[in-house]
Amino acid sequence: MSDLPTTQLSLIRQLKFCAGHRLFRHESRCAFFHGHNYQVDLEVVAARGGIEVDDVGRIVDFSLIKKRMLGWLDDHWDHAFLIHEQDTNALAAIRQVEPVKYFVMPTNPTAENMARYLLEVVSPHVLSDLGVVARSISLWETAESCAVATRPDHPVAVAPDPPGEAVIIDSRNGVAG
Ligand SMILES: [Zn+2]
Repeated sequence: MSDLPTTQLSLIRQLKFCAGHRLFRHESRCAFFHGHNYQVDLEVVAARGGIEVDDVGRIVDFSLIKKRMLGWLDDHWDHAFLIHEQDTNALAAIRQVEPVKYFVMPTNPTAENMARYLLEVVSPHVLSDLGVVARSISLWETAESCAVATRPDHPVAVAPDPPGEAVIIDSRNGVAG
């Protein structure tokens, strides 16, 4: 019986945020400044394997993954403008606005690249001490369109650089950073 496949367990938590972006070098209307109500489906598994649960029967408490990942999204992407670091024209424009919150991406802020950034860079940073890893991030840009980034079965163990930080300039509170 021992060669029967073992049931694997994962959790999915939905998280929502709003952000603006534009797609650098897009050939059509996505090159204009616009925004979306994004939804993230964050799927996590136990870091030590897909069958681990605690004494209560949980991989991890849902509230903890919400707190960590939604906390990061609220601080850095929610109500911010996401701009590709090579999009110097958009960066120059957004720096004319005050108050403002923006986040410089190392890649174009497509749903695919945003999902990959959350999976590869943000999730290790916010989840590692909870004993779980993100297996996939599904990033819904609209109710119909979603990009999915999935962790490989045997990921290379490299510590990623820490995620970037939002730039928030708001003289109403005397805050610049
Ligand atoms: Zn868009």
